[in-house]
Amino acid sequence: MPKTGNNFDYSDRRVALVTGGARGIGFEIVRRFLADGYQVAFVATKVEHVERALVAFDCPRHQIYAETTDVTQQNELERFVERVQARWGEIAILVNNAGISPKRVDQDTPWLSQTTLQEWARVIDVNLTCPFNLIRLLAPAMIAAGYGRIINIGSLAGRAMPLIAGPHYAASKAGLVGLTRAAARDLAPHGITVNCIAPGRILSDLTGPSGAAVNRSALSRIPVGRLGTAEEIAHVAAFLVSSMAGFITGATIDVTGGEFAA
Ligand code: NDP
Repeated sequence: MPKTGNNFDYSDRRVALVTGGARGIGFEIVRRFLADGYQVAFVATKVEHVERALVAFDCPRHQIYAETTDVTQQNELERFVERVQARWGEIAILVNNAGISPKRVDQDTPWLSQTTLQEWARVIDVNLTCPFNLIRLLAPAMIAAGYGRIINIGSLAGRAMPLIAGPHYAASKAGLVGLTRAAARDLAPHGITVNCIAPGRILSDLTGPSGAAVNRSALSRIPVGRLGTAEEIAHVAAFLVSSMAGFITGATIDVTGGEFAA
């Protein structure tokens, strides 16, 4: 059987990198990958969050590695990747999860007029440019190995008219859908899949600050009648990196409890 494409035994390619793995959806993806036997490296920005997550994972050092790194600091991110490679070898799985969604300061002023160019640039940088950078950084080794799994965490806000999120967030997440397709097309011949998961409203620190009223109003739009959980996103990520998902690439999978995505 040829050792390429979907027939390859991937059991020795188990090094994963998850951005924003200290909290919320990223935390649950790391936890799920660890449970599935992967070696997982993650970054987040705050040392206390990274430390708290490491305690919660309670894993031997040969299975987990984490640093505080801002994903927009390209040099730091590159050094982090080098340290992961030095420990465990090439990274086979990348989950671009780290994301920010600034809250609207003044509910009576339209988003467009209260979004500064500086804030726009920061959101695009974290949510869209960093995934592009990391894909470019890790793809050569995946190509050389003839295998890779890349997941971008998008959002319903990039698929439908955003009701809560700002224009920078919606644009960055819509951009991830395009980046996913473009990267998938380039990398498919090399045994690498690239997919996007677009969560609807998920309970996390990112949605908590919007408040109970916003979450109640979101509930009225979700046919299954509840908010999603970070574990439910992690299940989809676990499937997409498994050998069962080898024929899925360029896809955006809506995980929204039925809330409408265009
Ligand atoms: P959280 O705010 O709960 O967690 C975000 C994680 O990303 C944190 O660990 C944070 O680090 C890290 N992070 C943020 N910015 C950076 C950065 N510049 N460099 C490195 N790490 C960073 O978010 P969620 O878990 O809710 O969201 C995760 C992803 O899912 C995001 O891309 C978000 O847009 C997307 N999403 C979330 C939805 C939801 O309803 N929650 C809905 C749709 C999409 P630290 O802990 O140090 O602060």
